[in-house]
Amino acid sequence: MMMIMIRLILLLLFIGVGTVSTLATDEVAVRRHTIVTTTGMVRDLVAHVAGEQATVTAVIGEGVDPHLYKPTRSDVAALLAADVVFYSGLMLEGKMADTLVKVARRGKPVYAVAELVDQGYLLQVEGVSGEYDPHLWMDVGGWMKALDAVVQALSDFDPEHARRYAANGERYRTVLGALDTYVRQVIDSIPKQQRVLVTAHDAFHYFGRAYGIEVRGIQGISTESEAGLQDINRLVDYIVARNVPAVFVETSVADKNVRALVDGARARSAAVMIGGALFSDAMGTTGTYEGTYVGMIDHNATTIARALGGQTPPRGMQGLLGDHDQAR
Ligand code: ZN
Repeated sequence: MMMIMIRLILLLLFIGVGTVSTLATDEVAVRRHTIVTTTGMVRDLVAHVAGEQATVTAVIGEGVDPHLYKPTRSDVAALLAADVVFYSGLMLEGKMADTLVKVARRGKPVYAVAELVDQGYLLQVEGVSGEYDPHLWMDVGGWMKALDAVVQALSDFDPEHARRYAANGERYRTVLGALDTYVRQVIDSIPKQQRVLVTAHDAFHYFGRAYGIEVRGIQGISTESEAGLQDINRLVDYIVARNVPAVFVETSVADKNVRALVDGARARSAAVMIGGALFSDAMGTTGTYEGTYVGMIDHNATTIARALGGQTPPRGMQGLLGDHDQAR
């Protein structure tokens, strides 16, 4: 009986010590940075670089338009409580500007990834001097530049782990390199005269420049200004003249303009379809492949190429795409 008691006490002690030691290691592990971003794309990018060193969350949810997004009270609290803030920049998050300035004024490191990229790469907004197109994630090459900027920013903030950030960045660069090659291949497979991308708003100029496809948006660079009947009629003329086989809706923008466009073109006997829904300014559902940057771009390139007569693998670059919006 005594022996059993002693053993029990020893066992309890052992469990106790075990628990204490687990807590101690956990405590070391949980000293992670808290990073808050605006869009999901920026969250995805920063999380790849930060790896184990940080918890990264985004305030703008899936399917939400960042041009129109107004931060809630809890978003502001999260931004103020973060160790570091990353946003996309170039006025993409136009209605968050005041909040981001306020956060930066508190002395917190706040980085705009698109504004850290060399200006020579950036596209100017047509007719507006000094204003740049914010949608650079659409070109995987542009996003690699943003990747370098994030590696640099995190290394400045936390020099102790600079080598780790550089290694994480290199690893992700390889993944992005493969994605860039895939996008180029499928877009190249579209017959030349059909390489025309008509979408709800002007989010695809970087994509067009990088992969050689002509781009037209119904609304401008920002979704803030409404499209007029004139904009739609102008595009109907273009679709009819160019014999465009498909146009595309965007998951973060209402589809009424694209539908009006299709109706207008069909009224003039054009055989145009809606080729699918593209992820322009927001990624897909969290936890799915399309909810990652790679999945988002794979989905876009595959959907565009397929609807415009190109050749694509059935489920995209790595066979991971879910059921597509079928052309209709
Ligand atoms: Zn946009």
